Parts: sequence; C-alpha cells; structure tokens
Amino acid sequence: MSIKKKIVFIPGDGIGQEVAPWGKKVLETVAEKKGYQFEFEDGLMGHVAIEATGSPLPDDTLEKAKACDAILFGAIGHAKYDNDPSLKVRPEQGLLKIRKELGLYANIRPIRLFDELLSASSIKADILRGADILFFRELTGGVYFGEKNKAEDGSFASDLMNYHRYEVERIARKAFDAAMTRKKKLCSVDKANVLETSRLWRDVIQEVAKEYPEVETEHIFIDNAAMQLVKDPKQFDVVVTANLFGDILTDEASQIAGSMGMLASASIGDEVGFYEPIHGSAHDIAGKGIANPLASILSAALMLDRSFDLKEDADDVIHAVEQVLREGYRTVDIADKHISNDFVLGTDAMGQKVVDLLNS
Ligand code: NAD
Repeated sequence: MSIKKKIVFIPGDGIGQEVAPWGKKVLETVAEKKGYQFEFEDGLMGHVAIEATGSPLPDDTLEKAKACDAILFGAIGHAKYDNDPSLKVRPEQGLLKIRKELGLYANIRPIRLFDELLSASSIKADILRGADILFFRELTGGVYFGEKNKAEDGSFASDLMNYHRYEVERIARKAFDAAMTRKKKLCSVDKANVLETSRLWRDVIQEVAKEYPEVETEHIFIDNAAMQLVKDPKQFDVVVTANLFGDILTDEASQIAGSMGMLASASIGDEVGFYEPIHGSAHDIAGKGIANPLASILSAALMLDRSFDLKEDADDVIHAVEQVLREGYRTVDIADKHISNDFVLGTDAMGQKVVDLLNS
C-alpha cells in the first residue's frame, strides 16, 4: 500500500518542545516499519513564534498547515503572558486563529483508561474500570465567540451565546458516524430547559438522529452529565456537546484517566486534522525532562486512525503504550507510591520505551 502524507510539526512552547518530538518519532517509526512516506515540515506557533517573528501564528506556518494532511502540535503558553493579561500579542491567539482558518469545528477527546493506571485516578477503581468515552465538543461557536460587551464603569458585562443550525448539524454527523463504529450509543448534552441555543441544539440532534436509526440517542442536561460522569462513567460511549459545556466536561473527564499527560485530542473540520495532547505548556515542569510524552504519542495514534485511516497502526501504538505501563514504567505524574524509583522514567526514556516496543 503506497501511503504518502505531509505532516506539519509544531512543537510550540514549554513541554510542547519536549513531548511533541516523541509523537513525531512514533510516526516516523510506524512509517519506517510499514514503508509509508511521512514527510514532515516544521512550523512555529505561540511564544516561540512571537519571539522569532512578532506573530503567534506566522503566515509561513499557516500556509504550510493549509497545504498538509495533518498537524502534530505540542502546546503553547508562557508565564510572561499568564502574569500580564494586558499584553496584546499572546500565544493563545495563534491557536484560536489556526482553528478558525482551518475550520476546525469539532474537538475530539477519547477518554480511555489504561487498567494499569486505575490507582492514579482520584475516582474509585471499580467505578472507572472499563470506562471508554469519545467526546465531541463544538469548537468554533457558542458563547466563546458571541458578541461581548462591558460597561465602561465596570457595572455590567455580557457574552452572547448563539448557534446556527449548520454548526450543530455538522458536528452531530461526525459524532453519529463515530457512534456507528463503536457501541452505537450517543448522548447529547445541553441545557434545553433554560437555554434557547440548547433547544435548537436538541432539535437538530433529533433530526440528524433520524439518519442513524441504529444509534440509541439520549439527551441529558449539563448539570446531570457532570454528576453522572463521576458517578458512573461507563454509561457513556459517544458524547456530543456545545463549546462551553464541552470545555468543562472534558477537563472533568480527564480526571478519569488519571493525568493530563495521558490524554490526546484532535480538532477536525472537513479537511485537515490538528492533533495535540490536552495539556498546556506546563511552566512548572518545563525544561526538567520529566513531562509525560504519552499524550503526544497517543495524539500521533489518533492521527493515524482519524486522518490517515490506519486503524491497525494506531492500535499498535496504543498497545505499545499499554505494554510499557504493564511492564511497570511510569513518568512522575502517573507514578503512585508503590512504584519503585527505578521504574520512574523521564520524558526521553519513556518515549524510547514505546519506540523500542514498536520496533520489536
Ligand atoms: P497545563 O496543562 O500546562 O498544566 C497543568 C498541570 O498538569 C501542571 O501541574 C503540569 O505540570 C501538569 N502536566 C501537564 N501536562 C503534563 C505532562 N505531559 N506530564 C506531566 N505533567 C503534566 O496547564 P496550566 O498550568 O494551566 O497552563 C500552563 C500554560 O499552558 C499556560 O500558559 C496556558 O495558557 C497554556 N495552555 C495551553 C494549552 C494548549 O496549548 N492547548 C492548553 C492549556 C493551557
């Protein structure tokens, strides 16, 4: 099978520079083993891009991103901006712009718990075991992008929440398509008892559901969903929700997996896909060589599966991660007190373990 793909590699800031090379190395390893041609081009984004060019997303990076098959991203962010909200040019503007320019309207987060990490979660093991959820969060609409107002005297502020029918329809189809490849169960989360945008959301989901009669569809309110997620996460399969609700629910769900360092995500539209760990640039550990590279490696697996339709190769990567964990190796964020120091690895040693297994 002759497979040729162009991938833009954007490690970004902080631990992005440390973990993203391991996602790339895993893709290179798979390509070498299977005879695929993955061609990488480097791109700048975030604080490093501002320092080098004055822009958080230079035109050169954007052009490369528009012309490739998929993007492997690390993280953006620097303490300088977190401590000074008045700075006008900011790393996160790069991320928002690339999502908009590439039309990345759906954020996908698989929440899969590795059995070996059951004890790393703050939730009880018997509640968690077997949980496997695929979240679809709408990413380019809703209250984050509506009109904003603030009275000059600071006495009033407002953020407009709005959705168009087409915005709900397109993410609904992606979520239903995914449900068809899984347990054929979809849960749509809204607040239709209070919000007009949620009533539209629910109407559209119900319409699209008619195209997927095999999928069992349910609707639940966001407050209930937040509670059910920690009470009984196994009841969920595919979950689809709006931007604000998804932002909160997916971070809550990250606790199911024990650490942010284990979770991958994809932002997709109708063409190119953007793959990244869910975590940020983690200033507190940047430069120490201890960041967990597994979320970046699992992001590479997600790219193989969703953008390149190479599910078997994606599963090989996931199984290699599983095997390394089964052998007892951990990075510091997922090591509990029972793990001996000899098994607590730094970023590079952990990344290399996965690569060695893929090569074996
Ligand atoms: P963060 O996700 O960077 O870190 C949160 C906590 O998790 C930290 O204690 C960190 O050490 C730990 N952590 C995160 N990833 C880890 C990994 N791979 N291995 C081990 N531990 C890990 O969130 P934050 O501290 O709130 O933000 C830091 C910066 O990242 C900020 O500038 C923020 O704006 C930015 N940020 C960027 C993105 C992105 O690029 N998509 C997302 C979130 C935050």
